[in-house]
Amino acid sequence: MLNANITVDRPSFVTHLECSLTGERYEADQLHGLSRAGRPLLVRYDLASIRAFLPKAMLEARETDLWRWRELLPVRRTADIVSLGEIETPLIPLTKSGGPNVLVKDEGRLPTGSFKARGLVMAVAMAKALGVTRIAMPTNGNAGAALAAYATRCGIETIVFCPDDTPEINVREIALQGARVYRVNGLIDDCGAIVAKGAAQGLWFDFSTLKEPYRIEGKKTMGLELAAQFNWRLPQNIFYPTGGGTGLIGMWKAFDELEALGWIGAERPRMFAVQAAGCAPIVRAYEAGLDHAERWEDAATVAAGIRVPKAVGDFLILRAVRASGGKAMAVGDPAILKAVDDAAKQDGLLLCPEGGATLAAYREALRLGWIDEEESSVLFNCATGLKYPMPAAYKVVDRFAEIDLAAL
Ligand SMILES: *Cc1c(COP(=O)(O)O)cnc(C)c1O
Repeated sequence: MLNANITVDRPSFVTHLECSLTGERYEADQLHGLSRAGRPLLVRYDLASIRAFLPKAMLEARETDLWRWRELLPVRRTADIVSLGEIETPLIPLTKSGGPNVLVKDEGRLPTGSFKARGLVMAVAMAKALGVTRIAMPTNGNAGAALAAYATRCGIETIVFCPDDTPEINVREIALQGARVYRVNGLIDDCGAIVAKGAAQGLWFDFSTLKEPYRIEGKKTMGLELAAQFNWRLPQNIFYPTGGGTGLIGMWKAFDELEALGWIGAERPRMFAVQAAGCAPIVRAYEAGLDHAERWEDAATVAAGIRVPKAVGDFLILRAVRASGGKAMAVGDPAILKAVDDAAKQDGLLLCPEGGATLAAYREALRLGWIDEEESSVLFNCATGLKYPMPAAYKVVDRFAEIDLAAL
């Protein structure tokens, strides 16, 4: 076994699930998709009992991986955990291209090279616990790869649909890791419609973002980790590249749970939901003062992971952003690409385009005076930059010719 956190059975504290819109209660330990209102379900815990059972010092003495947070997670039996080594991701200073108090939470170091591993390791464990044998999912790439890896590892069949312009490496890693992957002539919500149709026919279980309750719980660990890494205070600003918004919603939930445990106070970071100018439904709704976001037509951006025209958790993202005093903001592809370039050339850190979007948004927020350079800001780099196309490097030397070494 990899780690003591996943060798020992621990008490489980899940009490029930709850509709995020209406508050209607649902039983735990049963297979659920969306609530009857068609909205995401949230997992609820007996936080008072966790508070009594788990002193902060006990948590701090554990190895720092995702399973350190077992009591705040939905998996009841250790035997259901399918792990590929979900480490705590580091905070890397980005002083030159960012600023003196900018830290990148580098999620590219997780299994399958993206933070989708957090959500899927949890969702797959719960699917396994609840007897699911076949899963289908729409993806822009990274979620499909994480699903394929974890599901294959525990013998669950997977069928994955991605837009036909999904980065080639994503399509191939999904296939290699044992899923049946299909390219669809449409966007992620068009893929989602195919998944929903098959699910309605009983062919498979629908694993779309927020359409099953447990990916949020996995993504929530980003907020838990941040609290621990910031010594139980939180950063002042968080910039999160927002597609379906699972991570932003999850972190917001994590902060409330940590406060209920008495581990952090009432202070919260400003949450900045970062989208691409070519696909910014949440930003449009935010600026119009709406609670729900209309579908964004003709979505296009280099940041494939946040090309999500319509999000089922839109109201949860908007609620968290507004309650935090943050903003939803859009950045253009040129600013995204420049940010990726600057971080690599100036700070030696290779960001994915979505991570570049958070740096571009940070710069814009600074320029507009929304934030201060003195404040601590965390940018999320959600996948390893190695998965994405890079500018060509084509210079050669001829070893048989005279090489002007000093000119190299
Ligand atoms: C999925 C993904 C996102 C968006 O995450 P959500 O929590 O679904 O909003 C951002 N960047 C990358 C690289 C992704 O794979």
